[in-house]
Amino acid sequence: MNFPIVEHLANAGCLDRVFIDGEWRLPVGRARSAVIDPSTEQAVAEIALGNAQDVDTAVAAARRAFATWSVSSADRRAALLDRVHGLILERAELFAQAISLEMGAAISVARSTQVPVAAEHIRVARDLAGSYPFVTRREGVAIVREPIGVCGLITPWNWPLYQITAKVGPALAAGCTVVLKPSELSPLSALLFAEVMRDAGAPAGVFNLVNGDGPDVGAALSAHPDVDMISITGSTRAGVLVAQAAAPTVKRVAQELGGKSPNLMLPDADFARAVPMGVAAAFRNVGQSCSAPTRMIVPRERLAEVEQLAAAAVAALVVGDPRSTQSTHGPVANRAQFNRVQQMIEAGIADGARLVCGGLGRPPGLERGFYARPTVFSDVNTQMSIAQEEIFGPVLAVIPYDSLDEAVAIANDTVYGLGAHVQGRDLGAARAVAARIRAGQVHINHQAWNPHAPFGGYKRSGNGREYGVEGLQEYLETKAILGDMNEEQA
Ligand code: NAD
Repeated sequence: MNFPIVEHLANAGCLDRVFIDGEWRLPVGRARSAVIDPSTEQAVAEIALGNAQDVDTAVAAARRAFATWSVSSADRRAALLDRVHGLILERAELFAQAISLEMGAAISVARSTQVPVAAEHIRVARDLAGSYPFVTRREGVAIVREPIGVCGLITPWNWPLYQITAKVGPALAAGCTVVLKPSELSPLSALLFAEVMRDAGAPAGVFNLVNGDGPDVGAALSAHPDVDMISITGSTRAGVLVAQAAAPTVKRVAQELGGKSPNLMLPDADFARAVPMGVAAAFRNVGQSCSAPTRMIVPRERLAEVEQLAAAAVAALVVGDPRSTQSTHGPVANRAQFNRVQQMIEAGIADGARLVCGGLGRPPGLERGFYARPTVFSDVNTQMSIAQEEIFGPVLAVIPYDSLDEAVAIANDTVYGLGAHVQGRDLGAARAVAARIRAGQVHINHQAWNPHAPFGGYKRSGNGREYGVEGLQEYLETKAILGDMNEEQA
């Protein structure tokens, strides 16, 4: 089968390349990696993987470019980001095809969500480049916020373009130069993005891309003495390894890691609205979202009602071929993820959780492809592994509570602290609960995503913040200049 997006990248001559110093180059690394379509389990393309030498070359290019990009005007940075934004929108269909093919997102979701929200990060970064106060004065001191330097950016496969733009946008707006290592499992959208950067006229070396795996390219980037900062989005396991590799060079490490986010239903919540929306949020992107609210914490006396509402919401999902516009959900992204989901469903059953719907195996009629059954467990308790471990698939755990204090304790009974949801009609009460939850972003009554809301983790969900002003500040160093006073202060 021929895929237009693969043909596009092959014609552009970039499938077997890395992008360094403004051009596509053959990597020194000789390894190749197949891109697997998760809906058929078939290889659809082969990409070249770089190695530590390619990282060296890319970092050197980024270092050279930093000398001029770091002192370029805010207008120039904003203008580049504006062109990048325009090109992503212009090539939105290609991006949607790439994402759908490489990680299985239903094409309608790729078109309506994956690509537009990714473009938003560039738009916000463009606006901030022109408006952020890089120099302020306080108590006679000039506070200058300067670009931190050369940044290594390591991204996952679940929201592949979105995770890239959430890092590249603010890094370039700040005046940093970057070496991107996208997930080896979702390289097509990343190659398209590099093409956009080139066509937008990014100066040579400002943006570089080295495809590769974590232990080789990711580790080399993390340990590199001439990289000033690493921003990683990925599992807590990988985040820890990156921090360890980065420690000897004392570079800044921003970690955006895993989650096991709670969705706390207060007794006065509008259950008929909140439960289906909670199911939709938990299963968005087939449950492969770091902040997916996969623990629904509900008053015990409402358990039966919640189960009924959740089962009805799941019955309305259409799991199937991601290329069909009828499908709301495609397969999970890869074999490892499929096996993980199966293993966790098995664990839920073995631990005695009650299966409300879904279960082991593929949905009926889908014999091939990494399709998992959207699964809801009820009567889950916090000791069960399905209540504690990030599953990263369509598995929801409904956990009953008897008192508000217990509900908050359950919400916080996790090593993670990324997202959280609170549902309730009394806004004051919902706000009070939001204040007690140890997580970086809390949504009350399913408030929609906002590209200005800083996003990041407490506890083992990481230490960085992305999006909006806080996302930009991650890429800035603070310099205090004493004696540089305004005339009126002198
Ligand atoms: P992963 O940890 O397997 O890989 C993420 C990235 O890290 C990839 O590019 C990978 O190659 C790289 N990597 C792996 N080992 C490395 C090493 N030793 N050194 C350097 N780099 C290494 O994660 P994944 O399966 O791609 O993504 C899913 C995970 O990402 C989930 O845990 C999810 O919660 C998390 N995630 C977090 C956020 C967030 O903003 N907090 C967003 C999306 C995904």
